Amino acid sequence: MTTLAILGGEPEITERLRPYRSMGAAEKEAVVKVMDDDCLSGFFGSWQDGFLGGPRVQEFERSWAERFNVRHVVSVNSNTSGLIAAMGAIGISPGDEVILPPTTMSATAVAPLFYGGIPVFADLDPNDFCISVDAVKAAVTSRTRAVIAVNLFGHPAKLTELRQFCDERGIFLVEDNAQGPLASEFGKQCGTIGHIGVFSLNYHKHIHTGEGGMCCTDDSRLAERLQMIRNHAEAVVEQAGTRDLTNMIGMNLRLTELSAAIGLVQLGEIEGHVFGRVKFAEGLSSRLSGLEGFTVPTVRTECRHVYYNWMAKFDAELVGVSRERFNEALRAEGFPSFVGYVRPLYYLPLFQEGVAIGRNGFPLNLSERSYSCFPEVCSVAESLWREKFLGVMICNYALEDNIADRLANAFLKVYENRHLLVE
Ligand SMILES: *Cc1c(COP(=O)(O)O)cnc(C)c1O
Repeated sequence: MTTLAILGGEPEITERLRPYRSMGAAEKEAVVKVMDDDCLSGFFGSWQDGFLGGPRVQEFERSWAERFNVRHVVSVNSNTSGLIAAMGAIGISPGDEVILPPTTMSATAVAPLFYGGIPVFADLDPNDFCISVDAVKAAVTSRTRAVIAVNLFGHPAKLTELRQFCDERGIFLVEDNAQGPLASEFGKQCGTIGHIGVFSLNYHKHIHTGEGGMCCTDDSRLAERLQMIRNHAEAVVEQAGTRDLTNMIGMNLRLTELSAAIGLVQLGEIEGHVFGRVKFAEGLSSRLSGLEGFTVPTVRTECRHVYYNWMAKFDAELVGVSRERFNEALRAEGFPSFVGYVRPLYYLPLFQEGVAIGRNGFPLNLSERSYSCFPEVCSVAESLWREKFLGVMICNYALEDNIADRLANAFLKVYENRHLLVE
């Protein structure tokens, strides 16, 4: 019998997994062309040609709009910038509440703060790990102005249902779709179902431009406000004839021509970059499904999952070993698992101490609520983080076909010998 690597045996996978490499000859050529043209940015922060960026930025936005079947696309320099701009565009005002999930990258939860919005955490659905519609409904108050749904790990939140709910109440749905390019619900692209959807093009995502982000919307008024906030709104509102001056103070969130040139190539190859990962993740799921105490990622029937992470649920009682010990044994075999994902965001010092903007605790001092209630309110997020989540960061690795089976073998070796791990 083979001995587990953690107990001194040979690991199943001895070579290091290579990082995913997505930059190729076409990206290189596109960058060189920008250099030869000597126009690294076409933006001007005033009301003239160039307010909307240079030729590649504009072409990248048009191509993105076509690919995702959405009316308007506004590129920005990150998903974080896009979320902040979205909060500005929808008119978040001091004291407005924004409902969002606690399990996501921190940018989702801090975006409202920049306009004085107050993040309110709502629990996750235990099966798709995205924000629960019932939890959103329970969290709504007369001060709620928006919901941010995160398509976590590449699986769609219940976007269609949330959009309908938000429309009925006259509030906004913003999608953080950093992890879900080409994910879809009922055949509609994630990132285009909310009033605004934001994609990330940072180095760690399915496709990237080093840093970058794309905001999608079908609403021309919101698109215009996003363009303004991206590029010094206050200086152009007169010439643009903008009547509503709410949040019309701008930043510089502009993408360079270099990034746009790379983005155009990456967008052209997006199917390969996304579906290669999907194929790998589905292969892992099919080999590892049906094990007692272990639940591979579930996909709602009306959805397409794009597996930024392959995230499974571990039940220590049924498996008979602690999640941490099992994870160590997997890693010793060369299986690149991790546990927990991010700690629920209400534990961040800013929420716990109630200090965000300035020394008086703005805007959290506008809320009567304290963040100490959320570990109890978000019991699903707590249990997934503390006990259940065990996953693989699919997007990080070059996972060729031949390694998929060996990774599954490594997992099964640990699973079948798990009784030997009991301390
Ligand atoms: C990566 C990520 C972000 C931040 O994206 P940037 O482009 O780095 O700003 C926000 N939300 C989620 C869910 C992410 O995965």
